[in-house]
Amino acid sequence: MSERHTCPSSQAGPGATLLGILGPGGRVVYTPNGPRVTPEFQARLAARGGGPLESRYRFAAPCVESGCVFWDGACRAVDAAHEDFVAVGGALPECGIRETCRWWAQQGPAACAVCPSVRTNGSTS
Ligand code: SF4
Repeated sequence: MSERHTCPSSQAGPGATLLGILGPGGRVVYTPNGPRVTPEFQARLAARGGGPLESRYRFAAPCVESGCVFWDGACRAVDAAHEDFVAVGGALPECGIRETCRWWAQQGPAACAVCPSVRTNGSTS
């Protein structure tokens, strides 16, 4: 398991942090320095209703590499994201995890172009 890389499309749960909130049009509004996910925080978000947390928020957590179905020596979730979601140009999002982001490490700005469109439960969790 990598100690240095962070998955930007993690499930909610212990060890995760809030990466962003899906805003209007399904675009992620990033929350740099977002709170750590605790059972209490998770319950508060769940109480707002509206389906699985991962369909309304994005979470970041340590990359588990071979512990993930998208791992084959590299992360294929970011490849799947390009197939399933629309990439947009413009400035890099201010996400707060770029220094350790697995997708950034693999693809640089191309990953950040599609990242704001990703809904984790869509296909890239
Ligand atoms: S915006 Fe880029 S660096 Fe930030 S989480 Fe998404 S892919 Fe990673």
